[in-house]
Amino acid sequence: MIRQENKYSIQCLHCLEEVTSLWRHDFCSCFCGRVFIDGGDAYIRTGLEPGTNYLEFRATWTYNKRTGKRHRYSKRLALREGRTA
Ligand SMILES: [Zn+2]
Repeated sequence: MIRQENKYSIQCLHCLEEVTSLWRHDFCSCFCGRVFIDGGDAYIRTGLEPGTNYLEFRATWTYNKRTGKRHRYSKRLALREGRTA
């Protein structure tokens, strides 16, 4: 049996770290702290410092219960640009 979950993730284009919020109230910010994502599969809340760009992904995780294998692939959704204040 294969279980599939969709998560949103964002990649900061300043420090290049990709962060994923896994569940409600799972607040994650990137390494440099310029972007964050929150809400997991319940809602999506993202934020960014002015002047920072990030890529938005929909990450699909599949989990095969029989083999125990986890597989992940990402689909790029959008490039978000933070406006300079
Ligand atoms: Zn960053």
